Amino acid sequence: MAARNRGQTTVFKENRGLSPISIVGGGWAGIACALELADAGVAVALYESARQPGGRARRVDWDGLAIDNGQHLMVGAYRETLRMMARLGTVHHLQRAPLRLISPGFALRLPRLPAPWHLAIGLFGCRGLSLADKLAAARLMRALQARAFRLPADLPAAPWLADQRQSSRLIERLWAPICIAALNTPLDTASAQVFCNVLRDSLAGPRDASDLLFNRADLGHLLADAALPYLRARGAEVNLAHRVSGLRRRADGYDLAISASDRHHSMVASHVVLACHPARLPALLADLPPMQDIARAVARYRWQPIVTLWLRFAAPIAFPFPMHALGDGQAPWAFERDDIAPGVVAIVASADGPHVGWAAETLRDTWLEALRAALGPLPPLRAWQRIVERRATYACEPGMARPDNVTPLPGLYLAGDYTAGDYPATLEGAVRSGVQCARHILAARALPEAKS
Ligand SMILES: Cc1cc2nc3c(=O)[nH]c(=O)nc-3n(C[C@H](O)[C@H](O)[C@H](O)COP(=O)(O)OP(=O)(O)OC[C@H]3O[C@@H](n4cnc5c(N)ncnc54)[C@H](O)[C@@H]3O)c2cc1C
Repeated sequence: MAARNRGQTTVFKENRGLSPISIVGGGWAGIACALELADAGVAVALYESARQPGGRARRVDWDGLAIDNGQHLMVGAYRETLRMMARLGTVHHLQRAPLRLISPGFALRLPRLPAPWHLAIGLFGCRGLSLADKLAAARLMRALQARAFRLPADLPAAPWLADQRQSSRLIERLWAPICIAALNTPLDTASAQVFCNVLRDSLAGPRDASDLLFNRADLGHLLADAALPYLRARGAEVNLAHRVSGLRRRADGYDLAISASDRHHSMVASHVVLACHPARLPALLADLPPMQDIARAVARYRWQPIVTLWLRFAAPIAFPFPMHALGDGQAPWAFERDDIAPGVVAIVASADGPHVGWAAETLRDTWLEALRAALGPLPPLRAWQRIVERRATYACEPGMARPDNVTPLPGLYLAGDYTAGDYPATLEGAVRSGVQCARHILAARALPEAKS
């Protein structure tokens, strides 16, 4: 049996078995969904095409050293991610610190005071802004609070901030670094509404919501190393290096065509959760006509890169704080990563820019110079590695069409950082989506039982 899939032939071999709920994708959304279902006693089968789980937030090997595919940062507002990590016993891998944004000529430190005093006092003690800038920032936060952080219409963040009478220095030093890091989208095209959502839940949230949470172990330790045994202990099937290459509807659910090494087989599932990267979604939906509106909307997404430069110095570097911005606006941020090995530093730049096209050596030399300018003389560099994630996230632009977890087809669900929600493409967006998706499935399954 064969079905057409974007010009390729997808093989649906004779069915090998029945899997009640299949989750396609073992990133943070897929794993969060699987955990929630497994905890509710539901049998799940997870299919991940890569050998390594974690998706866009995973461990990679660098000459025997376990590093991350890209430097990640979490904040205290990541409540679902923190709940999941607490359940898995991995929260101790995070180091919590009150927010500090430090760059050359600028320093914002939020004190350990109850909200909103932490923000008010932090803002007024901020170095590198004029009094007029501080008042303008406070005025903007108050105005947003008064309208519950909802804008009458979404627009790009740059004109919106200018419209709010925020000076270019204030934008470059305070708003742009936060917006670009959170939305991974240049200010000229980033959604002002999603930026407001981020401000609502972080700076304007409870005091600890704006805390920074630094990874003190590679991303594998934070999630997959604990999640996979947890799932297996609860009867879940976890299939790594299993790519789902096609999906077809049948009377009692879905046929999934699966490729593992050279073998192809298919499974029948009553429910399917597609928790893959949004760029992979349209091909998986190709044989499902009622899903074509969603497939077309997602196919229109644009992508934004993230570049991480890993540096290994001969000795640890004294960072005044584990994170240091190397300039204003879209400048990269440097992270002390002695947890990986003494002397490891990650420098990460969000969103598109000229640096993405630079030769690797140019990037290394330019960012090393910026690190030296910020922190002083550096020990000898022993090794370095650049990782470019070209489709790190979708471009978070005004008015994007983000599909719901629940689709027009019964038993078919979507999970991932791109589904409908307040958050931009982040770990928290992915985890919330996975958890919410599982709750929809549980609620739908409970209904017939409640009726009988
Ligand atoms: C370099 C980088 C830095 C980042 N920094 C931050 C940060 O600091 N803070 C933050 O909160 N977020 C950050 N993010 C964003 C965050 O990593 C993502 O939003 C999140 O990991 C997305 O998770 P997901 O599960 O939705 O999707 P994905 O991680 O893309 O997971 C999808 C999974 O599906 C699998 N898959 C795809 N197709 C198939 C198929 N056909 N069959 C089986 N499996 C399939 C993929 O292999 C993948 O494992 C960063 C991302 C990158 C790349």
